[in-house]
Amino acid sequence: MFVVMAGTASEAEVLGVKSAILAEGLTPYDHAGPDRTVIAVVGEMGVRKPALVERLAALPGVTAVTPINSPFKLTSRAFHPERTVIRVLDAVIGDGGLTVMAGPCSVESRDQLFDTAEGVAAAGATILRGGAFKPRTSPYSFQGLGVEALRYLAEARERTGLPVVTEVMEPSQVDIVAEYADILQIGTRNMQNYSLLTAVGRVARPVMLKRGYGATIEEWLMAAEYIVSSGNPNVVLCERGIRTFETYTRNTMDLTAVPVLQGLTHLPVIVDPSHATGKRRLVEPMAVAGIGAGADGVMVEVHPRPDDALSDSEQQLDLPMFRSLMAVLVPIHAQLRRLREANTASQVPDAASRAEIAAGRDRAATSAAVPR
Ligand code: PEP
Ligand code: MN
Repeated sequence: MFVVMAGTASEAEVLGVKSAILAEGLTPYDHAGPDRTVIAVVGEMGVRKPALVERLAALPGVTAVTPINSPFKLTSRAFHPERTVIRVLDAVIGDGGLTVMAGPCSVESRDQLFDTAEGVAAAGATILRGGAFKPRTSPYSFQGLGVEALRYLAEARERTGLPVVTEVMEPSQVDIVAEYADILQIGTRNMQNYSLLTAVGRVARPVMLKRGYGATIEEWLMAAEYIVSSGNPNVVLCERGIRTFETYTRNTMDLTAVPVLQGLTHLPVIVDPSHATGKRRLVEPMAVAGIGAGADGVMVEVHPRPDDALSDSEQQLDLPMFRSLMAVLVPIHAQLRRLREANTASQVPDAASRAEIAAGRDRAATSAAVPR
């Protein structure tokens, strides 16, 4: 249940409600919004519930006690109506800007990573990706360079200024990955690895949680709930395709999940058209589609020589392809953002704002990050 405090409630009144909840052996999580504080009460209440509702509702400073109808609570919009904005170094995720995570599937060598990092940074990527510990379907495939790759990633961050995202596969790796990386990635195969989710919930690094390839949206949000309820509010959701009967593409990108999630949760959502499609020629159209669906950004795999890549060779873009993608994505995102913001301001834009939008389109087209 949620305890909704009055806008005028004092800190002492909020504390009073939290101690009453703790005294019942339940856990309070409070969110101080711009207008009021909401306290989520989490834990098994059983038959005590009606009496507890009554008792909490009578406490000073409480406006209402409302049931939570969804199994996810802290990740829900009902608890936290404003969107979560995550800042990491100079990158901001979820503020309406375009997040572009780009880099190789696997870090293969210092030179391969630096060539990619410098290329994607120059083209306007905002975050550098690169796998150090690789979850491979076959035990005989390249498994990643491990800690050596983490060191290269940290060096690449120094050279480019881009924050680094990389996958952590097990709880015992969390500390070392958090020491070198800025964002911890949980891969599709680990979305329901609850000890790993709890472990990344305890570190002070944002987490990018990829959707399990067989997971429903609710299961995905419940996985995010593990991280947030363990103490880490900075979670980015990444739609990377789900398994369907279709075999032409590696997975099926569930674009509908993007607007569905944006209604259900305050967490930022990005799409990964590389793993979703498995084919480099499909990456650009599906990245555009993801932004069209309202995603906060994209993750794409980029390699200086994709044909020589040690993993996911068929889906990695080369640098010229990445530059072309950016030349399309940046102005489309800017234009959509302008249109959507104008629509929010006045449901139907008037003639003056339509003219402004049209002028903005010309400006966006010329000021976009044009490939070098
Ligand atoms: C990755 O992004 O490196 C990766 C392995 O992706 P996924 O977990 O989505 O397969
Ligand atoms: Mn990959």
